[in-house]
Amino acid sequence: ATDPAPLLRAEKVGKRFGGFVALAEVDLVLRPGERLGLIGPNGSGKSTFVNCISGDFAQHDGSVTLAGAKLDGLKPHARARRGLARTFQLPQPFGSLTVLENVRVPLLFGGHAAEATERAMACLEQVELAAKATKLPRELTQVEQRRLELARAIALHPQLLIADEAMAGLSHAEVDQILALLLRLNAAGTAVIMIEHIMRAVTEFSERLIVFVAGRKIADGAPREVLAMPEVEGAYLGK
Ligand code: ADP
Ligand code: MG
Repeated sequence: ATDPAPLLRAEKVGKRFGGFVALAEVDLVLRPGERLGLIGPNGSGKSTFVNCISGDFAQHDGSVTLAGAKLDGLKPHARARRGLARTFQLPQPFGSLTVLENVRVPLLFGGHAAEATERAMACLEQVELAAKATKLPRELTQVEQRRLELARAIALHPQLLIADEAMAGLSHAEVDQILALLLRLNAAGTAVIMIEHIMRAVTEFSERLIVFVAGRKIADGAPREVLAMPEVEGAYLGK
């Protein structure tokens, strides 16, 4: 069989802040359903890369294609409708809306209100938050807030979900909850980019691993091989 068409193609994606190069000419091709880990020291450009891909940074160098269609110039919500979802390192729910309403928001554009409610409840069930549907986000525990962030991201049935440090600060058991959730989503067909510092989660999850150092991709391959590279080890020791 031939390789399927790539799901995501990032070509020479870069971002400068003033004279500072936060991200330099990163290329990445992801296939449908792939599980990719993205690691790198703090400040290595991981979230910057996500923001370029997701449209949260309107201006950047290079080009991004999803399932063959150029995304350049599209706003985040337009990319979300095309199947690209991301979560934020710091969950950003609407504080005055209930848990259910937060998940309904991305579903209200172009759909029927009743269907949006049904779909939002199904998402909450997927992340095991259905019982908290009428709560406010601040009434949730930290791991529940992360699950809400994921429920909002999956509302539109993404082809690609980018989870930016969705496990940071969680207990061992809570990390396992999020890991199991991401594996379930992937098993249902969603490609996932997991950005994470918790190495046991990254290695358990990833079929492929890329490493950013100082805004550059320095490694890309099988996790075991990538982690054995001296320059990867050096990047962490030198931090
Ligand atoms: P990571 O997610 O790998 O920890 P980031 O992508 O958040 O790193 O940041 C990469 C670099 O870009 C850092 O030096 C950070 O300070 C800088 N940076 C990120 N966002 C901005 C911004 N909006 N303005 C200026 N500098 C930024
Ligand atoms: Mg980051």
